[in-house]
Amino acid sequence: MDRTILTLLAENEFVSGEKISESMGISRSAVWKKINSLREEGFDITSQGKKGYHLNMGDRLEQELWQNMLTTKRLGRAEAETLQTTDSTNSQLKRMALMGAAEGSICTAEEQTRGKGRLGRVWESPQGAGLWLSVLLRPEMKPERAPVITLAAAIAMAEAIRKVAGAEAKIKWPNDIVVDGRKICGILLEISAEMDMVEYVIVGTGVNFRKTAYSDELRDKAVSIEEVCSAVPKRREIMAEYLNLLEKLMDIVAISGFEGIRERYEAMSATLGKRVQVTGSVNVTGTAENVDSEGCLMVRDDEGTLHRILSGDVSVRGVMGYA
Ligand code: ADP
Repeated sequence: MDRTILTLLAENEFVSGEKISESMGISRSAVWKKINSLREEGFDITSQGKKGYHLNMGDRLEQELWQNMLTTKRLGRAEAETLQTTDSTNSQLKRMALMGAAEGSICTAEEQTRGKGRLGRVWESPQGAGLWLSVLLRPEMKPERAPVITLAAAIAMAEAIRKVAGAEAKIKWPNDIVVDGRKICGILLEISAEMDMVEYVIVGTGVNFRKTAYSDELRDKAVSIEEVCSAVPKRREIMAEYLNLLEKLMDIVAISGFEGIRERYEAMSATLGKRVQVTGSVNVTGTAENVDSEGCLMVRDDEGTLHRILSGDVSVRGVMGYA
């Protein structure tokens, strides 16, 4: 369906039927039909006499409702699927990528039935409770550099949460955003690569917005935007800001690698300088000293030996608690 009408409604407080019919070159009765079919899709459109139609955008995520908030050239400018429910937005976007979707395509869902964490873990994604978002990138990059994208996405999301929600977001290496030591957002990168070139990267982010009935495991570990800020922003506000920042950061990474974004990363790290416990394919307890140019965490153990930790196969916990 032609969604021009949705864009008009999103960008104006009120739009008269006459204005719509003029700008779309359709009859007034065609306008009326289109308005009604949008209402059938669940859009809350009221009409007020001469002033015209008004769209109550609520917390909806359709592309037409946030296009004008973008400063990007690519991200958010290609295909955008807005689903009620899906297994995982990453899996759905992967299917779109295989059909040739362009860089910058995105997928969101109100609910994920199989939201993914790393290492086969589950990301709890209840109906309407968060921003469950995946973004497709097609960077010209060697596969071993790709973990830096997780760090770029973490900076973009932490900065977006700070700017839009005013919450003191920090990055827990490698892939979580925490507020007051609790996880508000997780990031999951899925990479498809040829021999020595990345074909595409899917950057999944799950931001908790509403406090929900988390599982026992998460009760002390998770937090939502609603719990940490007084005026809860719309999900699309965080999303647009995140896309704007991510594109800029990826442009810097393309030229200067991680070094180009290191300062911004360090400014928001909840991990550097802390004592951490690494478990998984490597087991080390020590101090997180640094992140190297490929995004690996350098941890010095109590004997003074430096360990280079790859993000793929470990969990990192603060010795004093989750973060
Ligand atoms: P970690 O960063 O904890 O090592 P992952 O990056 O794989 O692990 O994220 C998955 C983990 O995040 C799950 O095992 C669970 O503990 C936690 N989790 C799942 N859903 C949520 C959520 N909505 N909010 C916060 N944490 C979650």
